[in-house]
Amino acid sequence: MSRFKKGVLREATIDVGAIAANVRHLRRLTESEVIAVVKADGYGHGAVRSAAAALEGGASRLGVADIGEALALRRGGIDAPILAWLHAPGANFREAAGAGIELGISSFDQLLQASAAASVDRPVSVHLKLETGLGRNGIAPADYRVVFAEAARLERIGKLRVIGLFSHLSNTSADDDRAALRRFEEGVGVAASAGLAPPLRHLAASHAAIALPETRLGCVRLGVTIYGLSPFDDRDSGDLGLRPAMTLRAPVVAMRRVPAAQGVSYGYTYRTEGETTLALIPLGYADGVPRHASSTGPVSIDGERFRVAGRIAMDQFVVDVGDHPVSVGDEAVLFGDPTLGVPSAREWADAADTIDYEIVTRIGPRVPRRQVSA
Ligand SMILES: *Cc1c(COP(=O)(O)O)cnc(C)c1O
Repeated sequence: MSRFKKGVLREATIDVGAIAANVRHLRRLTESEVIAVVKADGYGHGAVRSAAAALEGGASRLGVADIGEALALRRGGIDAPILAWLHAPGANFREAAGAGIELGISSFDQLLQASAAASVDRPVSVHLKLETGLGRNGIAPADYRVVFAEAARLERIGKLRVIGLFSHLSNTSADDDRAALRRFEEGVGVAASAGLAPPLRHLAASHAAIALPETRLGCVRLGVTIYGLSPFDDRDSGDLGLRPAMTLRAPVVAMRRVPAAQGVSYGYTYRTEGETTLALIPLGYADGVPRHASSTGPVSIDGERFRVAGRIAMDQFVVDVGDHPVSVGDEAVLFGDPTLGVPSAREWADAADTIDYEIVTRIGPRVPRRQVSA
């Protein structure tokens, strides 16, 4: 029987050794410089610890969505280059530039705001983001010439350093991604004729970095794979040589023997078939366990597989364990490394009709993260 640590109600263990090993593996596989993406609190794993582990595994740079996330990494003692690419209107580029944050620039206005944040002796480092078909932010092809010319001028007068050109793919199909790659290469050509020769070009995130080698361009932005999850529908983490870093667990907190036809949880959407035992698990949708996975989400208790019985509530759900010898204090694992016999985040994603990115990223702040290294 594996017993849960006394007095702990729930936890997510984060194997930082797995993150480092995943990055090491992906660097070798892609033969590229790795920008480790640690936005959204490191996809729920903790941004600072994920960044540190990724750097230890050989990532040379970090990527986050916004400046607030980048500054939090600096406060956490991370001094590697950090790129942030999603900005509020009127965002404080001065504070970001002062902390040495590199800015993703998606428009002429942002370019001017960035240059205005330069100090006399320190240019602002930027990566120019090109729109190549995703329909999100990025400099429109019609604006390439004007924006690149101004960027080159600002670089010449020492206000800016253009570190990179980048874009982001839709993962719709290999053909769609190749078409975006062609548009990106055209943009790179326009930038070169404007006098820009940045050291980095980066386009591929996890999916393309693995599936479409021609999109690697010597530098890839990897998120979900560094946490050991697969971006492919038809390949799981093990197939890719990756180890999931997060395990979500809780103790069984109560047991109840009940007769046949007993309704379970709100709405009695589950009724017991015969006399059985119900186990209560103290994790709910407030913790990021998707209510949509009610009556389907998998749970492993002492190596035995069960499913959620009835509705997942805010703080808890019930498992019908039949006559299995489960007792209060036994460990329930919702997901972790499936090669260890526990369910995967992908199984929860399937049960909730979503992707594993969302499962790990939404694990809530009420769940303490405990760092381990296997
Ligand atoms: C989130 C994100 C990534 C990482 O994507 P994964 O699929 O998790 O590897 C890379 N680039 C950008 C611009 C992103 O927003």
